[in-house]
Amino acid sequence: MTITVRNFINGELVAAQSGKTFQSINPATEEVLAVAPDSTSADVDAAVQAAKSAYNAWRLTPAPRRGEILYRVAEILKERKEELSALMTQEMGKIIAETRGDVQEAIDMAYYMGGEGRRLMGYTSPVEMPNKFGMALRDSVGIVGLITPWNFPVAVPSWKILPALIAGNSIVWKPGEDVPASAEMFAQAFADAGLPAGVLNVVNGFGPDAGGPLVAHPDVRILSFTGSTDTGIAVYTKAASLGKKVTLEMGGKNAIIVMDDANLDLAVDAITWSAYGTTGQRCTATSRLIVQKGIKPRLMEALVAKAKSIRMGDGLDPNVDMGPLVNPKALEKVSSYMDVAKSEGVKILTGGAPADIEKGYFFQPTLFDGVEAGMRVEQEEIFGPVLSVIEVADFAEAVKVNNSTRYGLSSSIFTENVNDAFRAIRDLTTGIVYINHGTTGAEIQFPFGGTRGTGNGMREAGQAALTSFTEWKSVYVDYSGRLQRAQIDTEDVLSRELTSD
Ligand code: NAD
Repeated sequence: MTITVRNFINGELVAAQSGKTFQSINPATEEVLAVAPDSTSADVDAAVQAAKSAYNAWRLTPAPRRGEILYRVAEILKERKEELSALMTQEMGKIIAETRGDVQEAIDMAYYMGGEGRRLMGYTSPVEMPNKFGMALRDSVGIVGLITPWNFPVAVPSWKILPALIAGNSIVWKPGEDVPASAEMFAQAFADAGLPAGVLNVVNGFGPDAGGPLVAHPDVRILSFTGSTDTGIAVYTKAASLGKKVTLEMGGKNAIIVMDDANLDLAVDAITWSAYGTTGQRCTATSRLIVQKGIKPRLMEALVAKAKSIRMGDGLDPNVDMGPLVNPKALEKVSSYMDVAKSEGVKILTGGAPADIEKGYFFQPTLFDGVEAGMRVEQEEIFGPVLSVIEVADFAEAVKVNNSTRYGLSSSIFTENVNDAFRAIRDLTTGIVYINHGTTGAEIQFPFGGTRGTGNGMREAGQAALTSFTEWKSVYVDYSGRLQRAQIDTEDVLSRELTSD
């Protein structure tokens, strides 16, 4: 049965004002899973109006009470974890174990940000005048606009929605157009947890028609975007011209470095999971393997065998290791890189073509050998189950190759040498660094984000997330009963003041 998704505006489920819809297709079966509102600026305006009306009461709700609602969101998500995970697998294709992890990340974030309701730490500091007090508080901002991709239908939105809510903001969220049904089920958890109407609004649709008006809307002061670098930069440029604050989380070209002294079996398992998990469609997926010369022959042999053993199919089947790509466009893009690889003289060790499965957008786990630093397959985000292998002589060359891309999200090194491990922590210039672990698997209590073309210096998750969704308010209380002038009054004035007390 096809699911009918609605926008969620002012606590009501509503169709797009134009009445238009688009389809959400199951990428494993090619069946229509849902139809969703194809929204435009009229729908965005209505959602922003609802967020505006709800903002004052929400900002004045004590933060610990806001936190209690987030705890209830966590409890509801725990109850619905299986149902929501199954829906996500059908809507975007990754295997059920991974969609469960996706929902778990939102549960973790709901508890973490619920706890912030009793912290949201500001600070006090001594002030330079007598009989005066100073403190800095985190303040809500107003209406925040959130734009998210399809590859983590629940986790990525949770990194934005939960900190934005605990900080007292109201929200208009535009989910990825491949996952409207998952977005609706996720938003329902907030309504059922008692979030007041209008505090969280969802507008479905495509980037230019629904995302664009959100970016441009004069009442939206903050934008938080996750998606591809090209779209993110366009969003950033428009928002900057309107003086808005923007958080960007964009593409990746993440690498695992394997040194000659690495634990080979561990490295093989980690590489396979990070490169082919989520069909290579994670922002943190490993798409480059930088390997020292000595270990390379044994590593390649083991990796080819592993890649060939990966079972592809519908992610709802617990025996399947890898699901399809998200849509035909993704299949076309990944396929086109096989021609790029051939034109660059790269050797395809395994894979290299769509899988021979009757339905669905499946692509074989692929391993490129003989890749050199600077090639297109080494530099561009392919966003599929494709791993490029670059041979290096030593640690210094490995670091250089790792750091020489447009992106800077995640990197990893496998070594048993503690000195190399610490040098890697020092020298790898990505926002996330792993030692003896693949490039995926971040936990929500630490900042998440990347350097260079991956971001704009902001971070999600952890305490850093609060920076995106709050303004600092500095407060001075003068209880001297006199005009006191910081930086101007002389020591004489100060000492008169002190002796008169
Ligand atoms: P995308 O850039 O195509 O779309 C992302 C979102 O932006 C979607 O909701 C889309 O509708 C919207 N959008 C598109 N054009 C727009 C416009 N002109 N104005 C406003 N909004 C617009 O990305 P995608 O294909 O959905 O996701 C894959 C990308 O996301 C990859 O590059 C991946 O690396 C990245 N990603 C990054 C992170 C991270 O945290 N760094 C996490 C997940 C995914």
